[in-house]
Amino acid sequence: MPFVKPNKRKESKPRGNLNRFVRLDEGKNVIIQILEDIPTDYWKYWFRDSAGSWVSYVSPGFNNDPIAERNRLVGKESKSYIKAQHSYAINVLDLTPMIKCGKCANAYWPKELVIAQDSGISCECGESLTGVLPEPLGMIRILERGRRLFLAIAALCHPQDEDDFSTPVLLTPGPDGQAVKLTNVPLMIVRTGEGSDTVTSPAAQLHLLHQVVNPDDIQEELHSLPSSFDFTPEEILAMIDDGVTCSDILSARKADREASQISASNTAVVSTVPNNEALF
Ligand SMILES: [Zn+2]
Repeated sequence: MPFVKPNKRKESKPRGNLNRFVRLDEGKNVIIQILEDIPTDYWKYWFRDSAGSWVSYVSPGFNNDPIAERNRLVGKESKSYIKAQHSYAINVLDLTPMIKCGKCANAYWPKELVIAQDSGISCECGESLTGVLPEPLGMIRILERGRRLFLAIAALCHPQDEDDFSTPVLLTPGPDGQAVKLTNVPLMIVRTGEGSDTVTSPAAQLHLLHQVVNPDDIQEELHSLPSSFDFTPEEILAMIDDGVTCSDILSARKADREASQISASNTAVVSTVPNNEALF
């Protein structure tokens, strides 16, 4: 099957319930096509602002950022110490079959809608979704997770030592010539378990879906990673120490963001709908 070039039309619609990051929830398997050979890794902090919203901050350099500096001041035993997490991220084409609203930017899991099927189903925005068939999302999104998932993905083409942190996680075939190049196959990512006990794991889906995108064609459409490095050090410290909320900061910058936000809506549209009913 020939590669299909994704539609590069920029969306000006609201982002709805879909954001840049792939969500991994239990029982909701996602299907992705990896678009890069090597994931990006970085250190990331998560904390709650005074309004209770989660805010993340990507360190521009390990142990060399305002939160690390503050951590050294408050000490490891302090309740306000914020631990950095080693995150891995990669651009993927989200091929998960979803029911998409034609009017707004919301999309729904087919299973979630089945229950309401009898009485007719509609989107949050009021648009009817009755009779709308699931199709691959076709959005370029970011798969972000710990090293373990990425090693498990890499192991589909070649094994890599779990404790070897000096070598990047490679998603290309090893020198032993194993056949799979991961950017050429749709993968299913499965999450099981709850809370801190969750396990995410990949499964190759070699024949279930047709490949729809040539990764080489959309390199310039990819999100630049790490993409969540949005706040200045002053803003971060104001949120952590002075009770300034994330939404205070965002609304103050709203005008600016509106001009540049276009790139945040994802642009790839898959024009071929493979038969994926077997997945649900
Ligand atoms: Zn809608």
